[in-house]
Amino acid sequence: MSHDSPTIPARDHKLLSFAVPCEDCGGWTERTIGPPGTRLPTQMTCAHCGVPQALDLPGHVDAEGRLDGCPRCDYHTLCIQKDVNGKLGVVLVLVTFGALLFSGLELPQMVAGLVLLALLDVVLLKLVVKRLLICYRCKAQYRGFPPGPRCRPFDLATWEAHDPTPDDAAR
Ligand SMILES: [Zn+2]
Ligand SMILES: [Zn+2]
Repeated sequence: MSHDSPTIPARDHKLLSFAVPCEDCGGWTERTIGPPGTRLPTQMTCAHCGVPQALDLPGHVDAEGRLDGCPRCDYHTLCIQKDVNGKLGVVLVLVTFGALLFSGLELPQMVAGLVLLALLDVVLLKLVVKRLLICYRCKAQYRGFPPGPRCRPFDLATWEAHDPTPDDAAR
């Protein structure tokens, strides 16, 4: 594995799917590609304005099914992120934390509880959390594709370089 980092999960979604922004209206379209073995699409139709959008998946997926570069905008680097099911994770942590808070535990037990919570986080990362590939430039998301050789763990500096702040946009 070329991407071993404690914060990067090594599991992929079973189903291939993507969520890409529309060049014309800016709306996002989410699609699942399936069942397994289905030919990868070369374009998709925006769910909001109906304008066909280029999405060259076959041109960016290698023989092993790895995705490299963005099929939507052709940017060369995708970042690998944790695809945290935000709600589930937050709910789980809050419920556990709340239970600890109102359980009337003494401080040492409380600390033990928090340690457990941290462990739970690690276990979730290892067993539940899957990978998500995001384009640095157009922010398109791809699930179920193992990352290709040019994919990199999330890097905030690169992300911000492609994400002008409102200040920059106004200039
Ligand atoms: Zn559109
Ligand atoms: Zn892109």
